[in-house]
Amino acid sequence: MRILVSNDDGYFSPGITLLAEALRPLGEVTVVAPERDRSGASNSLTLDRPLTVRRAPNGFYFVNGTPTDCVHIAVTGLLDFIPDVVVSGINHGANMGDDTIYSGTVAAAAEGYLLGIPSIAVSLASKAGGHFDSAAGIACALVKRLMRAPFGEPVLLNVNVPDVAPPALGGLEVTRLGRRHKAEPVVKLQTPRGETAYWIGPAGAAADAGPGTDFHAVENGRVSVTPLRMDLTGTTQLAHAREWLSK
Ligand code: MN
Repeated sequence: MRILVSNDDGYFSPGITLLAEALRPLGEVTVVAPERDRSGASNSLTLDRPLTVRRAPNGFYFVNGTPTDCVHIAVTGLLDFIPDVVVSGINHGANMGDDTIYSGTVAAAAEGYLLGIPSIAVSLASKAGGHFDSAAGIACALVKRLMRAPFGEPVLLNVNVPDVAPPALGGLEVTRLGRRHKAEPVVKLQTPRGETAYWIGPAGAAADAGPGTDFHAVENGRVSVTPLRMDLTGTTQLAHAREWLSK
């Protein structure tokens, strides 16, 4: 099995190092990740300049681009093979509900998915970052499962793991995305040159966090596994839109 690993926290982050180590017994692991923290980069491709790929002493490739750039470059030119699976993470912090729209962790996996490869985004659902080992174990288990039992259709899984020791994990639950309240207000700052600067605030608290959501599973100590799709069509509004256009 050939496994492509990426992330959005940067190639030097503890999450990606532990993830690569955990996956190594399962096959050939190649890491291609951003050279710096690109959290919040979403599905952005760099189109206005060429990108460079360099190799760190530990063998990881790093790119002066986005998470999406990394997976795109890896699959379409850097590697001389098509990976069997793309695993992105382990993100330092949750990617649940609306986070998935902005997340570079999810975006790296989404790029694999869009290129036809089964892909998994893995996040440790806490900024404390105490138990990356739990998330690494879950990533391993899911990749093993894909080897043993292929999903059978194109798949993009968004996985959030509670930040507790492995024995305290409460099992896996298939979930839907919850929703967050709107983000906290932007923070206004004065620059040394007297300009007002704006610093985007943190994500809002969970709004829809009821049973069946990713928030609910993680809150109750279970690993959340959400199958995502990239088709943004508002399928439930097609008829309404047609009716509106006929007015
Ligand atoms: Mn991140």
